[in-house]
Order: sequence, then structure tokens, then C-alpha cells
Amino acid sequence: MSKIILLMGAPGAGKGTQARLLHERLQLPQISTGDMFRALSALQTPLAVEVREIQQAGRLIPDDVVIRVVEERTNRADCANGYILDGFPRTTAQAEILEELAAKQSKDLVAVLIDVPTELLEKRMTGRRNCPVCGEIYNVYFKPPRVDNRCDFHPEAQLNHRADDAPEKIRVRLETYERETAPLIDYYQRMERLHRVDGTRQPAEIYAEIERIVNSEP
Ligand code: ADP
Repeated sequence: MSKIILLMGAPGAGKGTQARLLHERLQLPQISTGDMFRALSALQTPLAVEVREIQQAGRLIPDDVVIRVVEERTNRADCANGYILDGFPRTTAQAEILEELAAKQSKDLVAVLIDVPTELLEKRMTGRRNCPVCGEIYNVYFKPPRVDNRCDFHPEAQLNHRADDAPEKIRVRLETYERETAPLIDYYQRMERLHRVDGTRQPAEIYAEIERIVNSEP
């Protein structure tokens, strides 16, 4: 049966980094609701303005909006052999809808929690930079680009620093995570679908473990 690989963890845990690796190696689409809404918020429509304000404040987009976007995206043909979810579900209501969606799409859910202590998360987020062209994720402390502030693959592009990675936004995002999203860990544990991986190691080591988990599930 094809799979939905669910990457869970606090902001800064390394979900995006692992989702990109899974996408490259397993050839499955990476569906990052955070990236989708960041792209949407660059537009000049009333919904875009609303989304931008919510994201910049570190709060969550309403469940009904996120659910519609995920459903529409995952019903596309490229998701037929499975897909990677990064940043969804973030609330229990979203997790319940995802159960229905997985059943409708005849897919198995594998939940992977990337576990990282809070002290490290702040540094990961304040140091995070992204290439505006290819989306490659860097970190000034842990994975600096070869040339200061330039993508290794697109040196013409200056790296971005996300507006919500500012220290005061990071605090709100971590609180939102603890309140809204951390309860999902218990939810998936009760369903015996949760796999925990130690997210303090090198990305390649974490990746190897996630790949083993995904391949060992029936
Ligand atoms: P998330 O999608 O969970 O918010 P990211 O994948 O964007 O997290 O990673 C957050 C920051 O931490 C990035 O700057 C990234 O380069 C860095 N990072 C990701 N994984 C690791 C790791 N295993 N070790 C050190 N830094 C990491």
C-alpha cells in the first residue's frame, strides 16, 4: 500500500530538511503547508493578506482553510504512489480529517517525530536561511553556505531569512506548537503509528533512520 509519510516536530526540528531528502531519494512529492502558505501570502488577494498576517504573527491558519488546501493538493495524480507531509497536521481536528483522507486515498500513515530539545530549536531558527530559487535550507551555525549569504547552487541569489524566524516570533511559534501540535504526539502514539527519531544528530544520520522506518512499515 502506498504511504503518507508524516513528519512531525517543533518548528526548527528539521522537518523541511528531511522532507527534501525524502523527496529527492524516494521520488515522492513533498507537501509543505508552510511553504504553500508562504507562497500564497506573496500574492495581493484578500486571502493572501489574511494568511500573511496570521503567519507573521506565528499563529495557525484556520483548520478549514488548511484542510481544503491539503485535500486538493494530495488528490493530484503525482500523489498516487504516496507523499510526504511536512507541517500538517498541526491540530487534532486536522489529524482526524487526515485519517479520513488516508482511508479515502487507500494509503497508510507513518508518523515520524523528529525530537529536538527546545534550547537547540531557537538557534536552528535564528540561523536558518533559504535559497529563494531552489529552496535549499542553510544554517549560519550548522550548515553555512560556501560563500556568505549566497546559495551554493544559485550564487546569484541572496539567501532569505524568514520573517517568522525573528526571535519574538519564534517564541510565539514554540508556544503555539506546545499548545496545539504537541498533543498530536499522544494521538499518534495511541494509534501505535508514532516513530521517534533523535533529531540532534547530523541530517544524514537522521535521514537513514527515517528511511529504515518507512521501508520497514508494511
Ligand atoms: P522545520 O521544517 O522543522 O521548521 P528546517 O528543516 O527548516 O526545520 O530546519 C531548521 C533549521 O535547522 C535550518 O536552518 C536547518 O538548516 C537546520 N537543521 C535542520 N536539520 C538539522 C540537523 N540535523 N542538524 C543541524 N541543523 C539542522
